[in-house]
Amino acid sequence: MYKELKNKSTADRVEQFTRELVKRKSYTGTPGEAGKADFILSIIKSFPYFEQNPDEVWAQTIPNDPQGRKNIWARLKGSQPKSVLFHSHIDTVGTDDFGVLQSIAHDPDALQAYFSSYEGDERAREQALSGDWLFGRGSLDMQSGAAIHLANLLYLSEQNEPLNGNMLFLFNPDEESEHAGMLAALHELKRMKDEGYQFAAAINNDFIAPMHDTDDVKYIYTGAAGKVLPSFYIYGREAHVGDVLTAIDPTLVGSEINRKINQNLDLVEKLEGEYVLPPACLYFKEDKHDYNVQTAVSARLYFNYFVFEQTAKDVMDKLRSITRETVNELKTLSEKRYSEFRISHGFPPSNWSWDMDVCTYEELQNELREKGLPVDEVLDEVAQNWLGKDRRDASFALVEALQQLDPDKKPRVIMFFAPPFLPHNYLNEQYEFGAEIQEKLFKRLEVVSNESGEVFATKRFFPYLADGSYLSLHESEEEVNVLKKNMPRMSQIYPLRIDLIRSINIPSINIGVYGRDGHKWTERVYKPYTFHVLPGLIRNFALDLIAKKDK
Ligand SMILES: [Zn+2]
Repeated sequence: MYKELKNKSTADRVEQFTRELVKRKSYTGTPGEAGKADFILSIIKSFPYFEQNPDEVWAQTIPNDPQGRKNIWARLKGSQPKSVLFHSHIDTVGTDDFGVLQSIAHDPDALQAYFSSYEGDERAREQALSGDWLFGRGSLDMQSGAAIHLANLLYLSEQNEPLNGNMLFLFNPDEESEHAGMLAALHELKRMKDEGYQFAAAINNDFIAPMHDTDDVKYIYTGAAGKVLPSFYIYGREAHVGDVLTAIDPTLVGSEINRKINQNLDLVEKLEGEYVLPPACLYFKEDKHDYNVQTAVSARLYFNYFVFEQTAKDVMDKLRSITRETVNELKTLSEKRYSEFRISHGFPPSNWSWDMDVCTYEELQNELREKGLPVDEVLDEVAQNWLGKDRRDASFALVEALQQLDPDKKPRVIMFFAPPFLPHNYLNEQYEFGAEIQEKLFKRLEVVSNESGEVFATKRFFPYLADGSYLSLHESEEEVNVLKKNMPRMSQIYPLRIDLIRSINIPSINIGVYGRDGHKWTERVYKPYTFHVLPGLIRNFALDLIAKKDK
C-alpha cells in the first residue's frame, strides 16, 4: 500500500487508512479480527523501513484463542531506553443496529449519500452534507485511531534523524469484550521491560465525543476508570403460592438490592470535574426453569460498578452494608405481614423465621470448611465442568455449589465478584515519570491549542472501559486480595496476571479520535480534528516524552 501513500500528506494518509480499515469487518469474537490483523501487518511490511528491518514488525498469536486472533507489533528503535507505547484496538461491534442498511455499514460513501437526505436525524443529515464527517461501522470506534497510529508509524519511520527513544506500536483485538489482546500483550511488554525498556507512557486514541449537544471541547484523559462486577447469589426459602407469606422470596430481596444500588448517584465517587457514573444492573434473574406455583428459591444479580479512586474492597464494604440493611428491612416487613395475616384469621403464633445471612464467598467457604465439608473437592469438580464457558455463569455455579453443600440450607445472600476486573489507574507519583508526563502534556496541548484554535480539557479518568486499564495497577496487595479471595476460582476461571500488570506499570493516556454516536448506526468521525490536528498532537507529545532532559 505504501506506493499509493508515498507523496500524500499525513491527513490524507489517515483518511485512506481509515477507509481501508472500515471496509474490512473485524467484529469482536469473529475470525475477522485475525483478518484485520493480517491486513495491518501487510500494510506495515510495505513501509520502506520495515522492508529493510523485517524483524521490527511481528505478529503475536493469542494463546488458546478459538478465533486464532493476534496482536500486531511494530517498533522503531531509539538511542535511549525510554519508550512510548502507541496502542489501539482493531475490533468493532457488529452491525445489527444498521437494520436494512446493514449491507452498506462498511461503505462510508454510500452511508454519506444516504444520510445526506435522511430526515430522521437532522444533525446527521447536516453533517453528512458538510462533507466533514466519515460514516461507517468502526469509523469512530476506532479504525480511525488505528489509522492515526499507522500514519504516525510511517511518518516517524521516514525521518532521517535517529529517535531518542523507542516507539512501540500495538494493534490488538478483543477490546469490546474480554481484552484478550491486551492481556496477551502484557507478556510482550514484560519481555521488553526485562530487556531494559523504560516505558514513559502508553498512548491510546480510543474515541471521545461531546458530553452534551453544544459541547466542542476535546477531552484528554490521563488515566482510566476501572470496574468490578459485584454479584449476588440470593438463596431464600420457597413456598407454595397458597402459603406465600412464609416464603423468603429471593426476587423480593434482589429487587430491593437492585433498587438501592442500580443508578444510585449516592454511590458515585465525588471527583471534581470527572464524568463519574453510578452502578448499572447488567443481570437479574431467578433460577426457576419451568412454570409452576412454587415461589423461586434463588436469584442472581450483578452490577457493572465503576471504580475510580475506590477499590474492590471499598465496593464490597459499601454493598455489604446495603445488603444487610435490606435483609433486615425485609425481615421486619415479612414478620409484620405474616402476623397481620395470622391475627386476621385467628391462627395461633408460629415460629417461622425470616432471618437471612449476608456473607462473602470467602466467608462462606471458611464456614463450610469449619464444619468439615469437602469444599475444595466440590469447587474442583464444578470449576472443571465450567471451564471455557461463560465466566459469569461459571462463578454463579461455584457459589451455588457451596450453598448446596450447606446441610442447613440457610437462607443467605452470598456476595462475590465475577469477571471481568479492570484496574483503575491515574497519573500520580506511583509512576516513574508521573509528574513529568503531566507537565509535557499541558505544554503540548497549549501549543496545539494556539495553532489550531481547539479547546482542550484534561480529565483524570477515561470514563468508558478501555484496554489501558490493564497497563498498571494501583491497589495494594491487601486490597487486591479482597478481590482475589472473592472471585470464585479466579486462578482457573479468570487467570488474570495481576503480578504482570503490577510489574509493567505504564501510565495510560487517551488522546482520542473525535466524533459522534459510537456503537450506533449513525457512528461517524469528524475529519478536520481527527485527520488534521490529532496525528501531529499525538506524535509530538510522544516525541516530547522521549526527549532528552535538557532539550
Ligand atoms: Zn473503542
